[in-house]
Amino acid sequence: MSFMQSLSLLNIAPTLAEFFGISLTSRVHPVEQILNVMHARNPQVVVLLVIDSLDYQFYSDFADELEVLHELVKRDDSLLLECETVSNHTTPAIASILTGLRPESHKIRTSEDVGKSKINSILEILDDAGKPTAAVLETNGTKPLLGRISYVFAVDDREDIVEYDALIKTHTISILNHQHEVRFVFSHLRAIDRFAHRGWDLRVAAKITNENMRAIAKAVGERNGMLFICGDHGAHLKEREESQGKAPATVPLIVCYS
Ligand SMILES: [Zn+2]
Repeated sequence: MSFMQSLSLLNIAPTLAEFFGISLTSRVHPVEQILNVMHARNPQVVVLLVIDSLDYQFYSDFADELEVLHELVKRDDSLLLECETVSNHTTPAIASILTGLRPESHKIRTSEDVGKSKINSILEILDDAGKPTAAVLETNGTKPLLGRISYVFAVDDREDIVEYDALIKTHTISILNHQHEVRFVFSHLRAIDRFAHRGWDLRVAAKITNENMRAIAKAVGERNGMLFICGDHGAHLKEREESQGKAPATVPLIVCYS
């Protein structure tokens, strides 16, 4: 089943918080359709995968290359939601996804701010509540999480973004295969964003992302887990920005069992 409703990236954390029975600072409401799907099967583990620069138009334009995502959406109990973005930049967008707060509220603009912020994300709050969490992301982004959550996998930034995403995939699958007590995993794939900034062939980036998602979805499925897949902001594509002006981008949010 596929379903469309206009929401924003701020709705994700409150929905997860409601499912896990914890409370957040955010006053944004949880999404009932998602909660219904979650409660129906009570997943052992939830994996939130942010695909950098995957906006709604990119998701549609590269449907052939992103066939794994489109197939996941077609499955029973799957939801496809269109979410408004809250920032054009990765760090504040991800902070909003993980806290349910607007950038003006969490004030996290750079990776340095992440370290200074006193606002706990859903990762720390869940872990404190006895529901172990794991994060797989770029080394600078992991620093404030070290010692605060159960598992932190840091991947150093590098020129070879294909290798970088392969490491993110491998660590994510490794947690699913070996750390069975973990209830929530956050991971961040970056190839599409890097290819967009460099003006490289986006079909290649989409295919790489598709294959990484195929492997991750398989591992989530083997654990009877649930996948949340979303973008963080609109793709930074010159041709598009010039032709379309500055209308705020929307990103897909896919919620599915895999
Ligand atoms: Zn980004």
